[in-house]
Amino acid sequence: MMSMTKKGTDSVRVAVVGGGAAGMMAAIFAARAGADVTLFERNDRMGKKLRITGKGRCNLTNNCELNEFLANVPTNPRFLYAALASFSTADTMAFFEEAGVPLKTERGKRVFPMSDKAGDIVAALEKQCIRAGVHILHRRVDELLIRDGTVYGVRCGTVEETVDAVIVCTGGRSYPTTGSDGDGYRFATAAGHTVIPTQPSLVPLVAHGSLCAAMQGLSLKNIGFCIKDEASGKTVYEDFGEMMFTHFGLTGPVVLSASAHLHEMHPEKYAAYIDLKPALDEKTLDARIRSDFAKYQNRDFLNALDDLLPQKMIAPMVRLCEIDPRKKVHSVTREERERLVRCLKALKIPIRGFRSIDEAIVTRGGVNIKEINPKTMESKRISGLYFAGEVLDVDAYTGGFNLQIAFSTAVAAGTAAANVAQSGTKTGKNG
Ligand SMILES: Cc1cc2nc3c(=O)[nH]c(=O)nc-3n(C[C@H](O)[C@H](O)[C@H](O)COP(=O)(O)OP(=O)(O)OC[C@H]3O[C@@H](n4cnc5c(N)ncnc54)[C@H](O)[C@@H]3O)c2cc1C
Repeated sequence: MMSMTKKGTDSVRVAVVGGGAAGMMAAIFAARAGADVTLFERNDRMGKKLRITGKGRCNLTNNCELNEFLANVPTNPRFLYAALASFSTADTMAFFEEAGVPLKTERGKRVFPMSDKAGDIVAALEKQCIRAGVHILHRRVDELLIRDGTVYGVRCGTVEETVDAVIVCTGGRSYPTTGSDGDGYRFATAAGHTVIPTQPSLVPLVAHGSLCAAMQGLSLKNIGFCIKDEASGKTVYEDFGEMMFTHFGLTGPVVLSASAHLHEMHPEKYAAYIDLKPALDEKTLDARIRSDFAKYQNRDFLNALDDLLPQKMIAPMVRLCEIDPRKKVHSVTREERERLVRCLKALKIPIRGFRSIDEAIVTRGGVNIKEINPKTMESKRISGLYFAGEVLDVDAYTGGFNLQIAFSTAVAAGTAAANVAQSGTKTGKNG
């Protein structure tokens, strides 16, 4: 048996598996509700992933109303309604401000710590864990102990710990070096749950051909970006913003956001279209090109685009619009100019697939929410077993939504788990 800090012999004993965003929050709320809580984190530090969120600044929530929030959750938004209604974005902000972390709201209602330090969010959660009396063990849980439809403990190596409730907060399977490599899915499957197959979301996109590689490292701001389903011609995503070319394809904020909208990915399904001059319509752009050509009338075409495009783009774009690079600009025809305008307004990048899940910001798929009580996050299959955070089959767009989902589901699970014995849910209920 492992040693646990006992609040009292009557206290409900809760094991929280995973010390990330959801795990720490679940532990705090279970302990505040009177439970005797042990948190198991396999790393020697808590919140390894949290520390790298928001490029180290931690976009911890989004300062928006519930309906707007749910519109930013493409997978299973209705399941989250109860949890978000009882622990809202405003509650998250109040929680951290009361914990001594001043916050600020930026563009797109994104909330960050005033200090711009994700470490401050982790430190606040750790401090609240300690203050609430959570016992932290840096151990990896190998197995959940289940008998007759009821969870009764966890096993770490050869050591077993008996508890009344277990909250699985092991995260998804993206960025596995942070410790989140899919243990929770294994636990869920062993407990008789269905796990919806996982795939990457908020992930860079791999392109066909060598065009992107030719421009690798080039970052574009204020571009129009859309993705079309090539078979139907339907636009599945459209936005303005920032992106970058890489040796494999495309990355950057608009690209990651777009990836969350791409379903049933296969190598011929989607193409990205980049509008390099979103502020100019085709006619105005043509006039702008003609004025550049007049300015550089004796130059070769290849050397007349300096005012129009970043240096790294010129040679690839010239090749793409199939105009002789050595042709003098005064003899570029109207049809050739039109081809150039089309390339500038809709630079086509056929998409081959997603980059690996290792590089994804979030994991799509996970524990089937139909088997989870949306108010308490308790398993409908195993009594006393709860799931919170990214391990569940929920995911959202960028903007602080994913961390808020972790916090809200964790508060629901922690509060319910602390009351597991009193509420009489531990009666054993298979199926
Ligand atoms: C680079 C990057 C940037 C991001 N930026 C943002 C952002 O700014 N805003 C936002 O809302 N979201 C962001 N996200 C997504 C967000 O980080 C996750 O959705 C969130 O961390 C999920 O919380 P979680 O607690 O469910 O899982 P995690 O935070 O992944 O925590 C899971 C924890 O469980 C531990 N664990 C796993 N298995 C075991 C085991 N068997 N025993 C013991 N411990 C175990 C892991 O070590 C880990 O510490 C970002 C993600 C990445 C990768």
